[in-house]
Amino acid sequence: MRTCQIYKLHHGIECQKEAGYSEPDGIELCVLHSRNKEKDRTVFEDEIKKKLNEQDFDFSGIYFHKSIDFRINFKGFVQFSRAEFASLANFRGATFEGDGEVYFDEVKFNGLVNFSNALFYNKVDFSFAEFHHDAKFNSVKFYNDVSFYYSKFLFSADYSKAEFLKKDATILFCNSQLNGSTLFKDTVFFGIPDFRESKISNVDFSGTEFLLGAQFTETEFLEGLHFFECFFCKNGGTVFFDRSKFVGIVKFYNTKFLGPTFFRNSEVEGEVRFENINPENQDFHVKFIDLKIYPDSILEMKNTSLINAQFEDTDVRKIKFHNVNWCSYHGRKAIYDEIYQAKKRLESVENFAKVEELYRYLKINYENNGDLKNAGDFHYGEMEIHRKSSPWRRYFSWYAVYWVLSGYGERPLRALFVLAGLILILPAIVWSLGTEGYLNTLLFFIEKATLQRPAWPQGITWGGKLWSTLSVIFIPGQAALFLLALRNRLGRRR
Ligand SMILES: [Zn+2]
Repeated sequence: MRTCQIYKLHHGIECQKEAGYSEPDGIELCVLHSRNKEKDRTVFEDEIKKKLNEQDFDFSGIYFHKSIDFRINFKGFVQFSRAEFASLANFRGATFEGDGEVYFDEVKFNGLVNFSNALFYNKVDFSFAEFHHDAKFNSVKFYNDVSFYYSKFLFSADYSKAEFLKKDATILFCNSQLNGSTLFKDTVFFGIPDFRESKISNVDFSGTEFLLGAQFTETEFLEGLHFFECFFCKNGGTVFFDRSKFVGIVKFYNTKFLGPTFFRNSEVEGEVRFENINPENQDFHVKFIDLKIYPDSILEMKNTSLINAQFEDTDVRKIKFHNVNWCSYHGRKAIYDEIYQAKKRLESVENFAKVEELYRYLKINYENNGDLKNAGDFHYGEMEIHRKSSPWRRYFSWYAVYWVLSGYGERPLRALFVLAGLILILPAIVWSLGTEGYLNTLLFFIEKATLQRPAWPQGITWGGKLWSTLSVIFIPGQAALFLLALRNRLGRRR
C-alpha cells in the first residue's frame, strides 16, 4: 500500500492513510489531503466523521474541497494548520474547550468562513491565515489568547459584538492586513489588542471598547478608518499610535480617551480628524510629538479640549483648530508643553526654544485664520518664553520692560494700572521732595501730562522739577502703551 505523501507538500505533517490520488506534481495523497477538486465527497465526509467520532481533531493540511459543517464542540487539542477550505467553512456556534490549544495557522479560507457565536475557551492561533472571502467572527467570545499575527483579510471581516474577554491576554493582530472592509462594531477588548505594523483599510471601530488601551504602533492606516464613539482605557492603560502612518482618511469622532494617548513620530499623509473627543470633558492626555504633516494633508481638531495636549516638535501651523480649548497658565492661554516642562523641571535653553516656536507657530496659525484674539494670546506666550529663556533677559531687558508696562502690548488692563500708578506715584515722589500739598502736585502733573503749561507748585525742589519734566515723557508714553494694548486686544492689528 502506498501511503499519503503529504509531508512532501507540507513539511512536518505525517499521514499513514492510503494514497489514492496522484497530484499533478507526482505526489501521492490520501482522500483527505488530496487537492483534487473531484475527489469523492462521500468517502471524504466519512473520513471526517470517523475522525470526529474518535475525537481526533487533527485536520492539518486537509483540503476541504466542498463546503463543510463544523458546528460542533471541539474538545482539547484542535489543529487545522495549513488546511485549505475551497468553499464554505461553517463553524457557527462551535465551541473549543478542554485542555489544548486551537490552531488555524496558515489556513487558507477561499470561501465564506463563519465563526459567528463561536466560543474559544482555549488559546487560538490564526497566524498567517488567509481569508479570501468574507469572514464572520461576530459575537465570538475569545476567553484566552488570540493570534491573527500576519493574517490577511482580503474580503470583509466582521468582528461586531465580538468579545476578547481575558484581561492579560495576548491579542495579536500585528503585521496583519485588513484590506477588505472590517467591522469591529461594538467589539469589546478586555485585554490590549496589538495591531503593530499591520496595514489596515476600511476598518470601522464604531462603538469599540478598548478597556485597557490599544497598541497601534507602526500601523498603517490606509483609508476609511472610523473610530466613532469608541472608548479607550475605561479600565486604565495607554493608547499608542507611535510611528504610525495615516495615509487615508481617519476619523476620531465622539471618542473617549481616558488614558494617556501617544502619537509620537507619526505621519499624516491623508486626512486625520478629531472631533468631540471626550465629549463629557474628561481630560484628554495626548502627546502629538514630532508629527510629520505632509503638504496638502489635513489634521483637524474640532470641539476638543487640548488642555493636556503636547505638540513638541510638531509644526502646529499645519493643524486646523476649530473651537478647541487651551489651558490657562498664570492667567493666560497656554500650551501644555510649557506647563509640562515647568512641572518636570525640563527648562533648558533648548526646551524653551521649542515652546517659543510652538507659540510662534500657533500665533501664525490663528493669524492666518483671522482669529486675532487667540493670536494675541499666543503672541504673549511667545514673548513670555523668550523673556524667561535667559536669566538676564528675564529681568533686565526691553522684553522685561515691555512685559511690565503692558504685557507685551496684549494686556490693556495692566497698562492702565501702570498708567494710574505713574499718575499717582510721580506726584508723590515730587511732593516728598518738597512741595506744598499732594493734591496740588497731582493737579500740576495732570495739567503737565495734558500738555498745558501750569506754574510750578510752591516749594518745588530741583529734583522735583526733574521728575516733573520726565513725567511729560512717562505718562503720555504709558498712555500710548495702554491705547496700543487696547487696540491689539479689541481692534484689528496691522
Ligand atoms: Zn493524507
